[in-house]
Amino acid sequence: MASCFGKIVVGTYVEIKRSDGRIHQAMVTSLNEDNESVTVEWIENGDTKGKEIDLESIFALNADLAPEEEMAPSPDTPPPPTPSSVKINKIAKNRRTIAPSKIEAPSRDNRVVTTRARAAQPPQPEPAPAPPPPAQQPAQPTPAQTAQQLQNESSPHPLTRKEFGQLSRRKSNCVKEVEKLQEKRERRRIQQQELREKRAQEVDTTIPNYEIMYMIRDFRASLDYRPLTTADLIEEHRICVCVRKRPLNKKELTMKDLDVITIPSKDVVMVHEPKQKVDLTRFLENQTFRFDYTFDDSTTNEMVYRFTARPLVETIFERGMATCFAYGQTGSGKTHTMGGDFSGKNQDCAKGVYALAARDVFVMLKKPNHKKLDLQVYATFFEIYSGKVFDLLNHKTKLRVLEDGKQQVQVVGLQEKDVKCTEDVLKLIEIGNSCRTSGQTSANAHSSRSHAVFQIILRRKGKMHGKFSLIDLAGNERGADTSSADRQTRLEGAEINKSLLALKECIRALGLNKPHTPFRASKLTQVLRDSFIGENSRTCMIATISPGMTSCENTLNTLRYANRVKELSVDANQVMEGVRPNIHVVNQMELLDEDWLSSSPQRDDLKLLCEQNGEEMSPQLYTFHEAVSQMGEMEEQVLEDHRAVFQESIRWLEDEKVLLEMTEEVDYDVDTYATQLEQILDQKIDILTELRDKVKSFRSSLQDEEQASKQINPKRPRAV
Ligand code: ADP
Ligand code: MG
Repeated sequence: MASCFGKIVVGTYVEIKRSDGRIHQAMVTSLNEDNESVTVEWIENGDTKGKEIDLESIFALNADLAPEEEMAPSPDTPPPPTPSSVKINKIAKNRRTIAPSKIEAPSRDNRVVTTRARAAQPPQPEPAPAPPPPAQQPAQPTPAQTAQQLQNESSPHPLTRKEFGQLSRRKSNCVKEVEKLQEKRERRRIQQQELREKRAQEVDTTIPNYEIMYMIRDFRASLDYRPLTTADLIEEHRICVCVRKRPLNKKELTMKDLDVITIPSKDVVMVHEPKQKVDLTRFLENQTFRFDYTFDDSTTNEMVYRFTARPLVETIFERGMATCFAYGQTGSGKTHTMGGDFSGKNQDCAKGVYALAARDVFVMLKKPNHKKLDLQVYATFFEIYSGKVFDLLNHKTKLRVLEDGKQQVQVVGLQEKDVKCTEDVLKLIEIGNSCRTSGQTSANAHSSRSHAVFQIILRRKGKMHGKFSLIDLAGNERGADTSSADRQTRLEGAEINKSLLALKECIRALGLNKPHTPFRASKLTQVLRDSFIGENSRTCMIATISPGMTSCENTLNTLRYANRVKELSVDANQVMEGVRPNIHVVNQMELLDEDWLSSSPQRDDLKLLCEQNGEEMSPQLYTFHEAVSQMGEMEEQVLEDHRAVFQESIRWLEDEKVLLEMTEEVDYDVDTYATQLEQILDQKIDILTELRDKVKSFRSSLQDEEQASKQINPKRPRAV
């Protein structure tokens, strides 16, 4: 070891001072004897950075590491480093260095990274430095020990008596310096202790989980914040997955709920989940996720729009299909994002993604290259509730979804309104919103159970040119309602569970250019089918999350779902894992297969969905979904037949009237009368018997559904 480097070796952590005055730790990666300097590296915002620093500057900040002769501390020697109370796991394993005082961003593949932070008791004062860790703070050595240590460290051979005497004299100066340093440290430690005690007295113990609050605070203090700004590049994504955190709301603030979400940079979100060990010590489990963009609680709708839906407006002018979904638990900000800011009870829909997208469609329409296309703009607004479609621009008329021989899905009778400007669109959004929530006690009572779809359609001479579907999805926590005792709630839950799983699979299939998408497994995906196929389809998901500790489990479920949507589209190696069926489920389904007398495309897609989501869909849940879908099919058939019988009955009445009138004639033909009456009655009996049998089967399918629902694990299944 070159003597001028003192105690520094490759791998030593040193404090360095940056040009902007920040001081942080970095690791020495080489010792440069030629110019008496060291090269250091550290991680910042996920990048490894490095620089060469002369030894003098290093020792000015790291007096403990200086060679003994150079140990005199300069008067302005700063305090030793603030060690993070948080131990950070190495995220990118193949990186050569880690910067322990700053959080390193996770790798590009969305992996979830967990770090743990232990309870710091009592809480740490924030900016004041804590005592250095034991490794950097050796116990005060006695002069003899120091001499011995020096002998061990600096001399490969036993010393002569003379050499030892010289060394002892040199060492005595050195010991003095060490003692001075030690005194300083001791003083700091006492100050520190006093501060802590003072702060411990100030701790607001009325806050539930105050120790967790301090742990999160300490954790955040160690972060380097670089939120998304308008200067950030808007990337081209075929599938874009983002997360938006909303601020704590009034209710959460009153309850003194804790904000457990941190968004340190433009694409990272962290969840600080409080956990308890067996010995009841509490600690934080920090989970880190990476997405295309992450928006913190100060982000405006306009900014969210800029990075999510805005890049998709272009797509529909290029004859493409675009979809933008808001996904999350009820109350997490889906409607706020898509429909617009609420001020009191009124929603300013001009500031929602629907309206912002419409505004840009009209802006783009005026561009010369688009002008010559002679495009017309139309809008639709409908709702999917419990697998049924209702037109929000036509008094919630129930609409039928039909698929033709070419697999083209039609929403029969859906009103497409001609729109000429943004104001026209705003009016439609208002009409649709009021229609959606009319008769509801709260906006969320109904919207939590239904998907709202707002579409902007471009047509050229009547022919579809492009379509942008913006969807405010049902609350994902409702997917767990499948085990409710109430049929209506159960059916709603089943449809939500199924549609959100199907949506995930359809987006994944889009990302992987898979030939088959299980779009028939739900009404939502069936209606949006044309948006999941084709080279020119793009989609964006905005996962909205609540910041509170009380929402932690739902938030993690939302992030896991969002993670899976994107994961497969970026990492081709995971493709096989994604389609690997759960063995247990498959066996169960093979058994079921034998019982099936008939199969339908819907059921095939449901089966596929189950295979792809074995983890979330237990065999019992699958059986239940199967029963629900059979019941739905039967319901449709019964209703359809009943309507036909009703129409037929009118005709029968007319025929019978004619027949009876005939008998009033003096010489009517009795033969003809009897034959015709018999024909009518036979027909009636046939048709009514058929309808009655269908109703019987329908009733038995209702019972099947009820039975199947009771088999579902009473433990609430995870929200999807
Ligand atoms: P969801 O549609 O997911 O059920 P909402 O959009 O209705 O949730 O949001 C619930 C509440 O939180 C509303 O009062 C809304 O105004 C408020 N909110 C949601 N997101 C934000 C945000 N980013 N900033 C401020 N308030 C928000
Ligand atoms: Mg809502």
